[in-house]
Amino acid sequence: MKRAVSTIEGSRQNLYIGGRWVEPHSGVYVKSFDPTTGMPWYEFGNADAQDVSDAVDAARAAFENPQWRRITQTDRGKLVRRLAELVLENADVLAEIETRDNGKLLKEMRAQMRALPDSYTYFSGMADKLLGETVPVNKLDMLNFTMREPIGVVGMITPWNSPLMMLTGTLAPCLAIGNTVVIKPSEHTSASTLALAELIEEAGFPAGVVNVVTGGGKTTGDALVRHPGLSKIVFTGSTTTGRTIAANAAQNLIPCQMELGGKSPHVVFGDVDIDRTVNGVVAGVFAAAGQTCVAGSRCFVEASIYDRFVEALVERTGRIMVGHPMNDASDIGPLAIPEQIGKLKHYVASGVSQGARIAAGGKQPSREDLADGWYYEPTVMTEATNDMTFMRDELFGPVVGIVPFSSEEKMISLANDTRYGLASGIWTKDIDRAMRFANKVNAGTVWINTYRSAAFMSSMGGFKESGYGRRGGFDVMREFSRVKNVVLDYSGAMQDPFVIRLR
Ligand code: ADP
Repeated sequence: MKRAVSTIEGSRQNLYIGGRWVEPHSGVYVKSFDPTTGMPWYEFGNADAQDVSDAVDAARAAFENPQWRRITQTDRGKLVRRLAELVLENADVLAEIETRDNGKLLKEMRAQMRALPDSYTYFSGMADKLLGETVPVNKLDMLNFTMREPIGVVGMITPWNSPLMMLTGTLAPCLAIGNTVVIKPSEHTSASTLALAELIEEAGFPAGVVNVVTGGGKTTGDALVRHPGLSKIVFTGSTTTGRTIAANAAQNLIPCQMELGGKSPHVVFGDVDIDRTVNGVVAGVFAAAGQTCVAGSRCFVEASIYDRFVEALVERTGRIMVGHPMNDASDIGPLAIPEQIGKLKHYVASGVSQGARIAAGGKQPSREDLADGWYYEPTVMTEATNDMTFMRDELFGPVVGIVPFSSEEKMISLANDTRYGLASGIWTKDIDRAMRFANKVNAGTVWINTYRSAAFMSSMGGFKESGYGRRGGFDVMREFSRVKNVVLDYSGAMQDPFVIRLR
């Protein structure tokens, strides 16, 4: 791969359409900012409706192109596996690009990028496992069967928090099954997706199978969503934007897969090992500076251990090292976009005015070396209630509200009292209680005595306003293929259509 932080720095990055790197029609480029300094570090092309249309046309042509359409399943799987190898070879470079663009810790991005190849390899195996069914029907000399086939051109709109990881869980199966793709990465973090496009080219995918258009959401993203040439939209981002996209996609009657916001409940019972559980709660909400859709931001603690738990949590939170993401000693880096700082300040202040108390954090760090970056201290809010504004809305930052409970039943109803339904967690040694929670909680993922433990072999997805559809696992095969029913009459005779036989 030619790209690296050093070659991207100060450069203009073009669009990737139909296997070529092209300038945007408008000639307009947009700045991308480094979250540790607030300064621009490269520019990306601002794709307009014409560029988007070119990309969708290229993807449609590639979908029909025998080079892709009639490639054997085995060879299609091999291409995805070749991509896995290239991602592995370039994992550390991709990690540096990602960190520079979104401010997540380099050590975390390295681990994430080095894990992606296994995910590509896993999904590459889907290429030759698209089985159909033979359907027994009440007719003699008839063969009735189903075939699974790719759906066509898939538009993928990705967020800024973990751009390549979020993309992999859908891009890998989508390609393995034989679809073609137009990706619109977040305008805050376009660099890593463009770098991946270079690897896709190197892997030998036919031109147009994957296209990348960069630009703003309401411009480039909107043009993509409204394009009549798309067969499906995969979106990961906020619930508000997801709602707009689903409504626009409905005009073309195409399906969507939506992974949206969350306000996940994290429950702690009195029988737990407090230190281990504190680590779990900290990892659940402060990892990646809280910029994960599954963040366990509403923490319900059994009243019998509330004081001890809060004390341990506050002590552990105080030891979290906020610092430059390239520094291996840092536990939390900056937030990816500056608007987040104002948003967190607003919500924390509203929590205080509604009666919550800041037990840790609650401000930007005062250290001089962090003064220019978009940093925010990990924040514990005690004396919170589930109806406070900061406990209702998704903050997408390192803020947790702690609520005591004494009745299991009341706790479950509070845990479910949210617009969202993405993830949930419970800590207890009582397995019956854990399973009661797993059965009753209205969330797409339940973690028991762990949190944020995701695997590409199992699927994830939200309920309620957290979206619909699943990413990851073998279930995802259904998301990117469609069923066709074929009926073959081998009787050699067509019966008289006007003779109706009653049974
Ligand atoms: P954020 O505001 O945190 O970036 P969004 O959910 O708005 O979160 O954005 C996620 C992705 O959706 C980004 O790639 C963004 O450019 C894109 N996007 C935003 N608004 C629209 C829209 N109206 N149509 C299509 N894509 C959009």
